Amino acid sequence: MKTYSGKSVFGGIAIGKISVYQKKEQMIKRVKITDADAEVERYNAARKEAILQLQGLYDKALKEVGEANAAIFEVHQMMLEDDDYNESVENIVRNQEVNAEYAVATTGDNFAQMFASMDDDYMRERAADVKDISERLITVLSGNADHSVGSKEPVIIVADDLAPSETVQLDKDMVLSFVTVHGSLNSHTAILARTMAIPALIGTPLPLDDTVNGRLGIVDGTNGVIYVDPDEETLAKMQKKQEEEAEKKRLLQTLKGRENVTLDGQKVMLYANIGNIKDLATVIQNDAGGIGLFRSEFIYLENDHYPTEEEQFTIYKQVAETMAGKRVIIRTLDIGADKQCDYFNMEHEENPALGYRAIRICLTRPEVFKTQLRALFRASAFGKIAIMYPMITSMKEIKRIQEMVALVKAELDVEGIEHGDPEQGIMIETPAAAIISDELAKEVDFFSIGTNDLTQYTLAIDRQNTKLDEFYDAHHPAILRMISMVVENAHKAGIWAGICGELGADQSLTQEFLAMGVDELSVSPGSILPIRKIVLETNVEEYKAGK
Ligand code: PEP
Ligand code: MG
Repeated sequence: MKTYSGKSVFGGIAIGKISVYQKKEQMIKRVKITDADAEVERYNAARKEAILQLQGLYDKALKEVGEANAAIFEVHQMMLEDDDYNESVENIVRNQEVNAEYAVATTGDNFAQMFASMDDDYMRERAADVKDISERLITVLSGNADHSVGSKEPVIIVADDLAPSETVQLDKDMVLSFVTVHGSLNSHTAILARTMAIPALIGTPLPLDDTVNGRLGIVDGTNGVIYVDPDEETLAKMQKKQEEEAEKKRLLQTLKGRENVTLDGQKVMLYANIGNIKDLATVIQNDAGGIGLFRSEFIYLENDHYPTEEEQFTIYKQVAETMAGKRVIIRTLDIGADKQCDYFNMEHEENPALGYRAIRICLTRPEVFKTQLRALFRASAFGKIAIMYPMITSMKEIKRIQEMVALVKAELDVEGIEHGDPEQGIMIETPAAAIISDELAKEVDFFSIGTNDLTQYTLAIDRQNTKLDEFYDAHHPAILRMISMVVENAHKAGIWAGICGELGADQSLTQEFLAMGVDELSVSPGSILPIRKIVLETNVEEYKAGK
């Protein structure tokens, strides 16, 4: 048995087979070869294997997401039959007498650059597809496993690190737990693990080789440990712990249907954070009062093209209808920083967290913003949708948003398209927004405090940088005072204020938040019932008196 320790992202016990996830980026070596015919043959065999893999993905996607979304895998299959691409690979192998991996990587780069420089939007987007098929070919050529989980049984995923775009591609039903060597507690992969309510660890120094891959593993998310090849005693102990946790969960389920009200009658809304329509099942299971943060950028990250108005409308409508009249707060896209989307073709930035992201993209790329707003306004006719704007720093931005909203409404009216009139709120996640929250409150319907970014920007600590975890003090008085001030300013203007950052789920602060008068906590679905338990057992006036 080997034991490795990491930092806990989400508690609980997972027991199952470990699958080491291969990164998409691969080091390609240029190797001289002597038999070009054999190398071309090896390339053609890899191409056939890649086409077979893509057929498998097409069949799976057809069942899960329908024909339109599955079509991309057909396109990729066709690209692998493309004469220009194949001739280029063969020429490089023969003329330079080099290995097929290198020839594919070079061809992939050349073709991707050619597509990226085209005028036509559709053709430009094909650059990402060329990269994708080239990576797949290289994976097959180098004998690495497919980078999808590709397992028939649920597994513990072990990886060096996982980007949000990689995490969204995993088949969630097949994931028991995530364990990564790198990654930070506030990364979006960590947030996703919390949303999925599965045990997860980051910063776990374990080897990504056969001493781990395929072995039996136990992840103890609560204590931040993974056991590889556990001995019988550990296995028995952990199985018992797993049963005890299941029992605790069952007990919490008895709290379903109860109102979130303290012993002295203060009410609070307990909502759920989601990133995907598939999260709705856990939202309902955990009795959320609504959705406090739907990170809509995941719709963009899951796609290889700008999601159309129709595609977005279908998703938003489905969420609104499923939540059946409960409030659904959809945040407009928050792309940028660690959430990068190839087809946005963003330039490299020295400082992406302080760069071109979120509302800054929306306000400067009105075609992207308008498409999303139209879809949101249309879907709001089918339920209680509210729109929330991220990364606000100024009144000027609010005015520009209001102008765009007015334009979208007017256009829909002229076109005779049915739409609702959703509430409009903003995230308070920059110190600037917190400080001018008295003014901002007069212009919007609600505030939702994004403590992840608010902490990053207030403490000047990159939330992605795991080296800084010891300096990242989520309970820093500056943050707590800002939350209190924002809530006060909201109430003065007659609007409500909630918290949708990860701090909202910090149970050691639930009573403090109630004392501040926070109106809503939006947390990962698995945290709703434990927080309800605290709310039901709290007397806010007594808590304040005892402070
Ligand atoms: C936040 O910053 O607290 C937040 C909720 O947004 P995200 O984590 O998606 O940046
Ligand atoms: Mg944020």
